[in-house]
Amino acid sequence: MTPMQCRGWLQEAALRCLRNNLHPDVAERPQDLVVYGGSGKAARDPQALAAIERTLIALRDDETLLVQSGKPVGVFRTFPQAPRVLIANSLLVPDWADWETFWELEAAGLTMYGQMTAGSWIYIGTQGILQGTFQTFSAVAEQRFGGSLVGKVVLTAGLGGMGGAQPLAVTMNGGVALCIEVDPARAERRLATGYLDEVAHDLDSGVQRALDAARDGLALSVGVVANAADALPELLARGVAVDVVTDQTSAHDPLHGYIPAGLDLGAATELRRHKPQEYVQRARASMARHCEAMVGFLRNGADVFDYGNNLRGEAQLGGFDDAFAYPGFVPAYIRPLFCEGKGPFRWVALSGDAADIAATDRAVAEAFPDDEPLQRWLQLADERVAFQGLPARICWLGYGERAEAGARFNDLVRDGRVRAPLVIGRDHLDAGSVASPFRETEAMADGSDAIADWPILNAMLNVASGAAWVAVHHGGGVGMGKSIHAGAQVVADGTDDATARLDRVLTNDPGTGVMRHADAGYDGARKVAADRGIHLPMLPSSEAQP
Ligand code: NAD
Repeated sequence: MTPMQCRGWLQEAALRCLRNNLHPDVAERPQDLVVYGGSGKAARDPQALAAIERTLIALRDDETLLVQSGKPVGVFRTFPQAPRVLIANSLLVPDWADWETFWELEAAGLTMYGQMTAGSWIYIGTQGILQGTFQTFSAVAEQRFGGSLVGKVVLTAGLGGMGGAQPLAVTMNGGVALCIEVDPARAERRLATGYLDEVAHDLDSGVQRALDAARDGLALSVGVVANAADALPELLARGVAVDVVTDQTSAHDPLHGYIPAGLDLGAATELRRHKPQEYVQRARASMARHCEAMVGFLRNGADVFDYGNNLRGEAQLGGFDDAFAYPGFVPAYIRPLFCEGKGPFRWVALSGDAADIAATDRAVAEAFPDDEPLQRWLQLADERVAFQGLPARICWLGYGERAEAGARFNDLVRDGRVRAPLVIGRDHLDAGSVASPFRETEAMADGSDAIADWPILNAMLNVASGAAWVAVHHGGGVGMGKSIHAGAQVVADGTDDATARLDRVLTNDPGTGVMRHADAGYDGARKVAADRGIHLPMLPSSEAQP
């Protein structure tokens, strides 16, 4: 195991996770300090990175380092139970919160885009997106098809960095995925990495393979090289019966992300370079047709949802007025989980030893024997997920469950059943930690989509609860001006101090998710609050509980 460089495990954990984010097996462009998500960075520049590392190594157990958009700006005396690092990334005053202003300030060396887990040092590679996608499709299965996708066909498009997780996530749920991808190299890459089972010669044979597999109850994913703006209207016109339709082309970016119909990749590159306005116009017109076909499938009875890529918004700009006929994935499938404080709980073995993750997998499986999707995920993750950088695991756990897992992890460290402490963290896409009206807080029951007090309260509570490091960011996932979100990490080092911190942070952090949704009027969240004794002063039923 790498020798410890810092004065305490909290600082050491932050240092190792920062370095892990930039590990060549983990980061997309480590030479530019870019971790993932377009330009999401871990540190402002090489000098700032070196200064963060130096400062963490020297940082005492009663000090806190402040990081301003990837640059270490101060060390202050706090106290041992306080976080060792506090991070603010990409925040702008609301009237200035657009990409153009951000890019100017970034060019002047004053800020950095932190995305979500890039700038808060808890990215763990593609496992994160695979599990999130698996979780979404299991929620679809649970809510619409009695718990399984066996015999169901999911039609989607986009087999890129994130979208490439879709076929495996569908087959992990027992279903059939029919995936339209315009770039043959992307489809081949998913095939080579085992995320996609096969690539069909053409649309006809792909559809036939998918329908046959569904009829036989086989889990199978089939890629078809085609433009979604052509393929989806064609499939709709033929009356092909599919059960679920979604999309993960990079529709959020009409110039670089979406290929207009009628152009091969070379022609698209030429048009983009020489006539960008015409390109955007054609991309939006194609997205309008693509989205219109999705609405057609909806009218025919399929479950259709937007998968966080803003296809609906761009299609509307392209002239299709009814684009928002189908919901985003959070209101459709994830919000009931958020009401239970359920969200992406992840942990990292600081030892670098894969056996430590195997021990934690067993501990989680033992703790929640009745959670069938969780059991299936742990099994499949063990078999099919290759670690990138430090061994890590992710699964969705709710209020109460996260604290239980944290306590068990601390016991593993204390008893020497793992070789070094474990860091527990999460994505900012979580129940109580994000305001993002086009994604996590779309269509809140009380209309509070754009209220950003909640992620700030979440971050402050995690500081008060003694997390190891806490971050507040702007613009992750959906871009500048569109989101405010927070992240928090806590370290299981086997001490009594860690027992108390883990219990506070891992109870309070998902507790803010229950609080946020109870406040917005969701009965599921109000019930969890009442049953579990979460004290919400304006909701008397929860006060009455012990
Ligand atoms: P990416 O750019 O790596 O991949 C996009 C893929 O779409 C590419 O392979 C591209 O060739 C393909 N494509 C483009 N136009 C097409 C067309 N007309 N027909 C068929 N294929 C086409 O992007 P990514 O990282 O996979 O992300 C995809 C989208 O999903 C993004 O908009 C991203 O913001 C969104 N996303 C949402 C979530 C979420 O939480 N819901 C998570 C991850 C990504």
